[in-house]
Amino acid sequence: MPHPHIYMVSAKKVDLKIVILGAMGAGKTSILHRYVHKKFFEDYQTTLGAHVMSKNLEVENITLRLQIWDMGGQDRFQPMVTSFYKGSDACILTFDVTDEESFECLDYWRKTFLESLRVPLDGFPVLLLGNKIDLKDRQVSKERALSWCEERKATYFEVSAKDDVNVEQAFEKLSMDAFERYLESLQSFMTDSFKLTPPSEDEPKPTSKCC
Ligand code: GDP
Ligand code: MG
Repeated sequence: MPHPHIYMVSAKKVDLKIVILGAMGAGKTSILHRYVHKKFFEDYQTTLGAHVMSKNLEVENITLRLQIWDMGGQDRFQPMVTSFYKGSDACILTFDVTDEESFECLDYWRKTFLESLRVPLDGFPVLLLGNKIDLKDRQVSKERALSWCEERKATYFEVSAKDDVNVEQAFEKLSMDAFERYLESLQSFMTDSFKLTPPSEDEPKPTSKCC
């Protein structure tokens, strides 16, 4: 069913900025490659500098142009570049299910991101990805990840960039959440504009007591 506010989108294209964050080695770049290029590279290559990957998604005759920002070479002690986060419409947090530490630093990423963004946090689309579920030596259970998400109102998907499990579904869900939020903000912007419009000429004017 179409979203109730979809008629307000006059443009045929909507740009959505998404950032992907998480510990080094969690698989951020691999997940993006899997989603955007449908490939997986076994060789470890540390991303240098910020990368932006683009992908289009069609929703009810509108093209969502996803721009996914991946900052390489990061770890939790590196000072954050807030301009990297600016204008984001959604955020993906990633951890490696076989690496406890990558799960423990999620709050750090979430907090730094949301604080530097300075937007109302209520309803901001956040997706958590537990990656590398193809591996056997798991350290973080699904239940633990789900309860983390429940407390923070995030969506959880278990994925494998290597075996191509759930990656596309996760991106689609997040993109739809981001698009929905975009439509909601458009609606509240329109409502505010109407409030500012002066009363029309046809409207009865207050009767003057004078003369
Ligand atoms: P990043 O630092 O978060 O960008 O992580 P990378 O994408 O560079 O991945 C780090 C390492 O984990 C690389 O050697 C990848 O090949 C490996 N890797 C990434 N995703 C998976 C996965 O789903 N399964 C397995 N087994 N290895 C993965
Ligand atoms: Mg990387």
